[in-house]
Amino acid sequence: MTEAPCPCGLGLPYPECCGRLHAAHAADGSLTAPTAEALMRSRYTAFARLGEVEGAGATGAADVAATVAYLRATWAPEHRPSTAELTPGPGDPAPAFTRLAVLAVEGGGPFQDVGEVEFAAVGRGPEGRFRLHERSRFRRESGVWLYVDGDVTA
Ligand SMILES: [Zn+2]
Repeated sequence: MTEAPCPCGLGLPYPECCGRLHAAHAADGSLTAPTAEALMRSRYTAFARLGEVEGAGATGAADVAATVAYLRATWAPEHRPSTAELTPGPGDPAPAFTRLAVLAVEGGGPFQDVGEVEFAAVGRGPEGRFRLHERSRFRRESGVWLYVDGDVTA
């Protein structure tokens, strides 16, 4: 049995890629992304997994709760959405992301405290294919990278 590659596109199986960051948080609440880019990828993968809930049925309810908890924990408190806002409902499915491209990285390294990551994400929604292009801002607090906010461009 071969593991599906991680949705973030680095090419490793999910458990060896973003899944490690998700599992560490699920196990004891630790947040271990070493760089802003790694955090960004792990958050994209979390969103991508939420988008699989309806279709493949591969993600159970406990997995959804853990994924939403990871997204909230890695969101700067002043911009953090509620659990209800992030949890997909029957009439409110999460977008199905299919591809991520990291376009630019500025700062965000292991010895820095701020960083920006520009990316394009492609997905499928009720209205067909869509593309999200965002420049995200990150900051590090007590060694932990957090997503602050971002500018969405067309
Ligand atoms: Zn990954």
